[in-house]
Amino acid sequence: MRRRARPGLNRVTRVPTLVLTSAVLLVGGLAGCAGTSGTALPAAGGSPSSASPRDSPGAAASGTGGAAGTPGASPAGQHNGNAPLSTAAPAPTRAAQPLAGQVIALDPGHNGANWSHSAIIDRLVNVITELKACDTTGAQTDAGYAEHTFTFDVAKRLARLLRAEGATVVLTRHNDHGVGPCVTQRAAIGNRAHADAAISIHADGGPPTGTGFEVIAPGRIAAPDAPVIGTSGRLAVDIRNAYHGITGEPYSDYVGSRGLDVRTDLGGLNLSTVPKVFIECGNMRNAADAARLTSPRFRERIAVALAAGFTAFLKRHS
Ligand SMILES: [Zn+2]
Repeated sequence: MRRRARPGLNRVTRVPTLVLTSAVLLVGGLAGCAGTSGTALPAAGGSPSSASPRDSPGAAASGTGGAAGTPGASPAGQHNGNAPLSTAAPAPTRAAQPLAGQVIALDPGHNGANWSHSAIIDRLVNVITELKACDTTGAQTDAGYAEHTFTFDVAKRLARLLRAEGATVVLTRHNDHGVGPCVTQRAAIGNRAHADAAISIHADGGPPTGTGFEVIAPGRIAAPDAPVIGTSGRLAVDIRNAYHGITGEPYSDYVGSRGLDVRTDLGGLNLSTVPKVFIECGNMRNAADAARLTSPRFRERIAVALAAGFTAFLKRHS
């Protein structure tokens, strides 16, 4: 089901007039569900310069409970619906609402009806470094659990947690039976909201022998996201650390480096004027990852982890 564009094949068409500042473009190889894979993090110059120095192994080691551990502790802001009106709770404090005033854009990858609307989603859009499909159908597990269903479920869970922490949450789609929007629009929605941070949520359709997750930061090119490249790199590290520590999901063993990657072919990043990353939460084609991704309890843990990553990031950047 995945549509895996590769350089020189299918719909991918180079844009000849581009001005690129690095040679990391379109090196092909193993691909994420979002399209052609980019260059692994250690590539000189292209990595988020802020990411590597902070990429200490110990930073991600706290509280690893594994996929089958106890449900993640929910962050502050739990409902307390039994309080009588006469003793109404005091106004939320900053500690209880650590994300008050923050805007976060969530982009659940793909959409439920993309598969039956190829004329729409195959339309080429300009993502700065190339022309590529408006959107794709996404991956699925061998048992048929679809990536679009996964991403929408995680986004809903994450939105609930972030709102409980006081954030304003903007979603790029509001159901799982529509078409698109195009990747260009997915970026524009976060831009229009002036989001303080944004994420595109995916799960990969990698090689069945491969396992693990990766967070993808934008590469440094002449694109609208250039002013937020460094900030996006820091967001990537915070999300990576929280995800690894709270879900226990291993770093990808087939793409990226220590759970981080840099790509310049993703419109959702290239066109974002707000700090933004992608995450491939696991590999839907791998049996162990698929078992976790299919579990509602694990998806809740994913949401807890992503909320913690945003909170850590925004504490320092707000
Ligand atoms: Zn995807």
